[in-house]
Amino acid sequence: MRIDVYSIFPGIFESPLRESLLGKAIESGVIDLRLHDIRDYAEGRHRQVDDAPFGGGPGMVMKPEPIFRAVTETLGYRMDRLDELKSEVEVILLTPSGETFDQEKANQLAGREHLALICGRYEGVDERVREHLCTRALSVGDYVLSGGEFAALIVIDAVARLVPGVVGNEASLADESFSRGLLEYPQYTRPADFNSWKVPEIVLSGNHGEIEKWRCQVAKESTRKTRPELSGIAQRKPDEV
Ligand code: SAM
Repeated sequence: MRIDVYSIFPGIFESPLRESLLGKAIESGVIDLRLHDIRDYAEGRHRQVDDAPFGGGPGMVMKPEPIFRAVTETLGYRMDRLDELKSEVEVILLTPSGETFDQEKANQLAGREHLALICGRYEGVDERVREHLCTRALSVGDYVLSGGEFAALIVIDAVARLVPGVVGNEASLADESFSRGLLEYPQYTRPADFNSWKVPEIVLSGNHGEIEKWRCQVAKESTRKTRPELSGIAQRKPDEV
């Protein structure tokens, strides 16, 4: 999978993309990740990437030209062939006003060969970027971050670990939270008794059938309690758990 990231602060990505699973996936070439500084595509001596909002209001808005230029030049498309670009590359604007990013969307994006992520700053990005350059706009949650870089990292991490070859044991992905409309069951490891807090007897029993049943029941109970809106749980009666 190729992922191009556009930001005016590309340095933010350096350490997170060097470490752990993502770092290995990038180093081995399973993920071809390319960072682009939007400022490199801005005009003038000051390489201005933002300007005051039309209509007034606080703060600054990111200008469209450097973003269009950065994306089309780095991906090799012409400004009059944006439809072609959008049919081949999933171009995503990170914004609090986008659709909420979740595991289902991570799965969809993991099936694409090429993603481009555009990170906003200041008061946001000129709307023509979303309208004419992007294929979708994603929010990572109902809160406002100071920049799209952290949101992009969340999307990259959640998507990359679903790409074959990134997570060592792919069986671990099947049972995770959200994978079946459920939160994951609680996990325990050694020691069985820590500070007099004992792990549940069942997980020490060696009876895999019973452990599986217990995990399933606990997962359903905890989903019903904390996230009843997750699919498949809200509709069930407690005795169907
Ligand atoms: N004025 C904007 C609003 O009220 O929606 C917020 C702009 S925010 C300070 C600057 C940038 O951070 C946004 O352009 C976006 O790229 C990013 N950002 C902030 N919160 C985000 C979120 N929840 N999801 C995705 N991106 C976010």
